[in-house]
Amino acid sequence: MRPDLLRVLLCPACREPFRLAVEERDGGEAARGRLGCGRCETAYPGNGSGPRVLPPVLVEEQERTARSLRWQWTRFSPLHDPALYTT
Ligand SMILES: [Zn+2]
Repeated sequence: MRPDLLRVLLCPACREPFRLAVEERDGGEAARGRLGCGRCETAYPGNGSGPRVLPPVLVEEQERTARSLRWQWTRFSPLHDPALYTT
């Protein structure tokens, strides 16, 4: 995560600028860290590809969707066998 992103990112909950807590460094960038809001104290994870700034309610929704899709994939994947649809 590039440190200069801090100039353009704001907390989606309260519009406060973030502070970056670097957990692992890769050159001048944070390979892993947390963006923290000093006002509402919400924290967002970040890695080398960038921060993941979703409001907590959307993170919960995303995890619920991933669990549902994982269940569907393991339950119904035998139905996607191409041999079933070829003659
Ligand atoms: Zn905030």
